[in-house]
Amino acid sequence: MDPSPALRGLRTAEILAVGAELTVGDTRDTNSGELARSLTEAGVAIARIDVLPDRLAVVAGTFRAALRRADLVVSTGGLGPTPDDLTREAIARVVGEAPEVDPALEAWLRSLWARRNLPFLEINRKQAWLIPSASPLPNPNGTAPGWWIDRPDGRAVVLLPGPPREMRPMWFEQALPRLLARGLGRGLRSRTLRLTGIGESQAADLLGEAVLRRANPEIATYARADAVDVRITATARRSRPAEALLDEAEAYVLDRLGSYVWARGSTTWPEAIQAELDRLGWSIAIVEAGTDGSLGGLLAGLAGLRRVERQADRSRSAAAIEADARAVAERSGAEVGLAVSARPRGQDTAVSVAIATPLGDRHERRLGFLGGSAGRSRAALIAAAAVLAALRRFER
Ligand code: ATP
Ligand code: MG
Repeated sequence: MDPSPALRGLRTAEILAVGAELTVGDTRDTNSGELARSLTEAGVAIARIDVLPDRLAVVAGTFRAALRRADLVVSTGGLGPTPDDLTREAIARVVGEAPEVDPALEAWLRSLWARRNLPFLEINRKQAWLIPSASPLPNPNGTAPGWWIDRPDGRAVVLLPGPPREMRPMWFEQALPRLLARGLGRGLRSRTLRLTGIGESQAADLLGEAVLRRANPEIATYARADAVDVRITATARRSRPAEALLDEAEAYVLDRLGSYVWARGSTTWPEAIQAELDRLGWSIAIVEAGTDGSLGGLLAGLAGLRRVERQADRSRSAAAIEADARAVAERSGAEVGLAVSARPRGQDTAVSVAIATPLGDRHERRLGFLGGSAGRSRAALIAAAAVLAALRRFER
């Protein structure tokens, strides 16, 4: 049996992007991704995202199915005045209510047209529609108000307009705060461990297939541009709080992959390195060769970065790189000098990293997977990982 409205937490959501322009490929569906990220951050599990054409039967059928599965359904698009804008009709049909013109909304709409000295057309009255269980979400950036619908079983439906510049403010300023007040995502917790020096498939292999198939806690790997992320998600069970399930899963991940973990959450390389520079009271300067500036790009925004230089000479000897690291530190007055050199080796990229610091120097050599720009990006990651590891070893 469904819990009463007051008791139903909004833990799962489905997103519907409505519009023929999406299904014929004229417009990319960016709305769903933005909503999905926002809901995920709020601790809601996205069960499904559907992109649908402007067809009443299809949209109504998808709403009906989504409302059977998920606690929350959010749609974008199809709120315009024309006959092919039929999201309102679709949800009205599903909840078994008839849309009627709302006098307050109609007055507001008429005022918009009057302000522009345009005649108000009958076709526009559709945007003043409401059903008894819906309340309007004002649209200060367009003519289509959104709808908020409470279902008797505690589920919620939110209809948002399609244009992103109307959708976003309505979501962030109106719908999301109201959902948060209702207890959005309560119970779902997640943690992310960021890995370097290991590929996604190797990480997945070390975690084991059985573990990656479990639903709660869920452990999943993601290959990002700057790391392989291991994300752990848990919802409370009757007997165990979500945090306890996360702790247990994290201990398992650290046991297998702990040596590759360089950060948590959404920490970036500049943030992780800056934290160590702050701790030591140091600044850094870098010089790169054969990387096409990829290290400077990766570390852009690092507050303690004094200087970025590029060497025209692509293949530097080990001694030359060590001298480079010391020299760039001296020239810029930074405590840390970081030099990287990358050159093709077969299909891959040979990477050499030298680090000069007041507490000792280091030199590392690695083979970066792949050549070309992928190899140069790997070279930057290898250099960042080397300097982060070196800085973390120093006490002060
Ligand atoms: P309007 O009152 O402006 O017609 P609407 O709610 O009816 O609003 P649609 O007609 O479905 O919205 O879409 C209007 C425009 O918004 C589309 O042409 C497209 O440019 C943009 N849009 C719609 N849906 C999306 C989406 N999912 N992602 C990105 N852009 C979208
Ligand atoms: Mg439209």
